[in-house]
This record gives sequence, C-alpha cells and structure tokens, in this order.
Amino acid sequence: MSKLAPAGAAVMLTGGAGYIGAQTARALEMAGWRPVIFDNLSFGRREMVRWGEFVQGDVRDVDAVREALKRYEVVAVLHLAGLKSVGLSVARPDLYYDHNVAGTGSLLSAMRDCCVNRLVLSSSAAVYGVSAGGAADGPFDEDAPKSPSSPYGHTKLATEWMISAHCQAFGASAIALRFFNAAGADADGLTGDIRRDNTHLIPRLIDAALGQGEPITLFGDDYDTPDGSCIRDYIHIGDLARAHVAALSAPAIPGAFEALNVGTGVGHSVFDVIDVAERVLGRRPDFTIGPRRPGDPPRLVADASRIRGALGWAPKESTLDMIVETEFNWRRSEMFRRLALPPR
Ligand code: UDP
Repeated sequence: MSKLAPAGAAVMLTGGAGYIGAQTARALEMAGWRPVIFDNLSFGRREMVRWGEFVQGDVRDVDAVREALKRYEVVAVLHLAGLKSVGLSVARPDLYYDHNVAGTGSLLSAMRDCCVNRLVLSSSAAVYGVSAGGAADGPFDEDAPKSPSSPYGHTKLATEWMISAHCQAFGASAIALRFFNAAGADADGLTGDIRRDNTHLIPRLIDAALGQGEPITLFGDDYDTPDGSCIRDYIHIGDLARAHVAALSAPAIPGAFEALNVGTGVGHSVFDVIDVAERVLGRRPDFTIGPRRPGDPPRLVADASRIRGALGWAPKESTLDMIVETEFNWRRSEMFRRLALPPR
C-alpha cells in the first residue's frame, strides 16, 4: 500500500478548465499539489485556469497526453474530461462513446506508457438509472443495481468497468466518484458553471428570478413523493472538489478499484428548492406545473456512508441556501457575463 504526498507533486486534471475541474484545481493547489490542466477547451475556458499549468489537448490524442504526463512528471490523474448532457447523448451516442469511452481508453494507455498508476474518475449517479431509485426506496448505496437510462449513463458505467479491468491487469489503483446533483459555484465567486442556457433546476430558477430566462416549468407534481415533485441530492461543487483531493490522498492498493457515491444523503424536492430560492433571492421565481420530463427518476438520493469511511470525507458546503446563494452571486458576476457560453 502506498500513499501519495502533495509537496508540489504534479497532478493532471483532464477537463480541468470546466465547471468542476476549475474548482478542483483550486482545492488541489490549496492542499499543496501542483495542478496540470489538460483540456481541449471545447466546453472549458482558458480563463477558468487560475490554478496550475495549462496544456491544451484532447484526451483522445494519446501522444499529447503522454507528452504532458512526461513533461510535468505527473504522479496521478483526475479524469474529469467528457461529455455530460443526458439529452444530447440520446441524439448522438457516437460522440459520447468516442469522448467518454474511447477517450478514457486513450488516457489509460498513455498512463500505462508513462508508469502513472493512480487515477480518480469523475463518474455519475447516472450509472444507477431510473430503476435504482423509487418513491419507496431509501437512499441507495454503491452496490445498488446498475441500469443506466441513457447513453451518457452507459458510457460512465463502461468507463468504470474499463478502469477496473485496467487496475487489475496492470496494478494501477483508481477511485470513481459518482456525483449526485452537482450544483452551486465557488464561495468566493472565482469559478462556476459558464453555460448560459443551463437546463438544470437551480440555474434556471435563478435566471427566472433575475428576469433573464423563461419562467420555468416544474416537471411533474404527481410523483409518489411527499409533495408530488422529484427529489434529488444536491451537492455543492466545493464539496465535490474536496472529494477529489481526498481520493487522491487515500492509500492506494495496487490492482484496487473502488466506486464511491458523492452526495449528502439528504433529498430535496423541487418545491423545497423553490422555497429556498424565494428565501435567498427575496422573490419567488415564476413557474408553472407541467408534465413529467421523460427519464426523470422520482427520487435520487445517495447513501453516502461509504465515502465517509473510505476517505473521511463529509459534505461541508452543501446546504441548499449555500448552493443557491453562490450560484446567484456567480450568475450576476462580471466574470460570468464575460465567460458565459452562448446557447448551443
Ligand atoms: N426540473 C424542473 N424544471 C426544470 C429543470 C429541472 O422541474 O426546468 C426538475 C427535474 O425534473 C428534476 C430536478 O428538477 O426533478 C433536478 O433536475 P436537474 O436537471 O437540475 O438535474 P437532474 O436530476 O436531471 O440531473
């Protein structure tokens, strides 16, 4: 068993110029690591690279990854690069398999060539799928059945399997962090999600309250939940970033692969989120009740006990108030206005 120590050691973040990557780079640097951001800038922005070195490159380009690993003497990789829109994955599964699965294959091959045997994957609760949750189900753990309901979820599960096999065959060690609903922005307003046409609930509520977006539709109030709306486990990106740092610092057993949920274990309904938004923003966002959105599970809440035991990690910033407040400050900041991507 070996343990990596920061002391300025270089850690590559694929996709490090994106929403979660930028926040994670900040957390890494604060913990004493040297972040090396490897990003093709298709969704990330150069201006989001504020901590560490930057290399523009694509994970599917094995030579470019190999060169960066060697040049910076990288000791471990945090793999955040990939496509993440469930809807687009249905329309273009080819892109999702190419970026997420083939991209990971290329990264693993470069890591093997360069004797880098430590990996943390940003995975997703999408690996569980609709059938894993249910109104009557409690929070579910890492061993819950996997039946992803989208090509996006399939590619995340395939990636986990690929990494697990790589670890067993070549003596590497890896942790997959299965995010629940990533939300919020950096507490100091330095990073956040730069998608202007964000389809997620919290940014949409804030845009509606700021008078910048369409009034929102609440997708279904007839679920078998206490108030009829869907329940989710919202996790602040500061907590997600710390989970990556904790995973990197955990003792590594050659050949071992472990998947860990990253959530709070507490569910909030859509109506709960609207109430908090009203309290934090001082006005109630306009919304109308619409039909259910296809593919939405009624209840998606983590059993987050395993990560506490494995990494000593627990959420610190993931209150709904904190999430709404930081997202609100971010979306009206000068930085967001400058960087926000136009609708695609
Ligand atoms: N939601 C909604 N209206 C919106 C966006 C989302 O009612 O405009 C609901 C959605 O049905 C889900 C919850 O809010 O129950 C969280 O959705 P989001 O897209 O933020 O995350 P997801 O859980 O789909 O990854």
